[in-house]
Amino acid sequence: MDKKLAAAIQRDNDLEDAGMHGDDRKTCWTHQSWSEDCQEQPFHTQPSASHYPRPA
Ligand SMILES: [Zn+2]
Repeated sequence: MDKKLAAAIQRDNDLEDAGMHGDDRKTCWTHQSWSEDCQEQPFHTQPSASHYPRPA
């Protein structure tokens, strides 16, 4: 993985833990990519895909 992308994902995870809304993520945890690169994908249902499991 691109180191810059990996760092950005980690940063988004930390920001989200700190209270940032998931929609403000620049990266997609689900697809491990830039959110703008995967927003058209079928399983990209939650731009705010959290890095921890959600209750069903
Ligand atoms: Zn995605």
